[in-house]
Amino acid sequence: MNITDKIKSKIRDVKDFPKPGITFKDITPLLSDPGLCEEIVKHLAGQWKGQKIDAIVGIESRGFLFGMLMAQHMHLPFVPVRKKGKLPADTISYSYALEYGEATIEIHTDSIKEGWKVLIHDDLLATGGTAAAAAELVKNLNGSIAGFSFLVELDFLKGHELLEDYSQALKALVHY
Ligand code: AMP
Repeated sequence: MNITDKIKSKIRDVKDFPKPGITFKDITPLLSDPGLCEEIVKHLAGQWKGQKIDAIVGIESRGFLFGMLMAQHMHLPFVPVRKKGKLPADTISYSYALEYGEATIEIHTDSIKEGWKVLIHDDLLATGGTAAAAAELVKNLNGSIAGFSFLVELDFLKGHELLEDYSQALKALVHY
């Protein structure tokens, strides 16, 4: 089985979570398989071989799981982006629209050095709003976007179109 099929065989569809009409792609069964996790990290990192990347930004909370492992594998700093009010030191924040209401995410101001090329990672790309907000935070700290990395992309939501303004480089291991 190739890596895509292995991942797909473990991702669990949870219907009507967190609300009716949404099919949630649950990646937690992957985490019970250490051999597969190792393979996933190698593939996620391998996609960016030869690219100049200075840090990996992972988005709370599932973006921390493979984001941190990728950063270790690639010998790069890992930078967490968190929901408002969670990061303790000086932060900047960015608010973006959700289907209902809005969300705010934050980053430590000293976590990205001026001119750094940053890879943004999350578990799943849906509409792209969250990853675009993370890209805005990086830009506001005078970093640039080297690319976007996801485990899963929901192609039908066309999130990649929103992210093209930040970087043309977008990679996902599994597509639905
Ligand atoms: P979006 O901003 O619409 O691209 O949503 C991406 C964020 O919401 C990611 O952090 C995902 O973990 C989460 N998310 C959105 N839709 C789903 C889904 N169908 N299954 C699992 N996670 C999702």
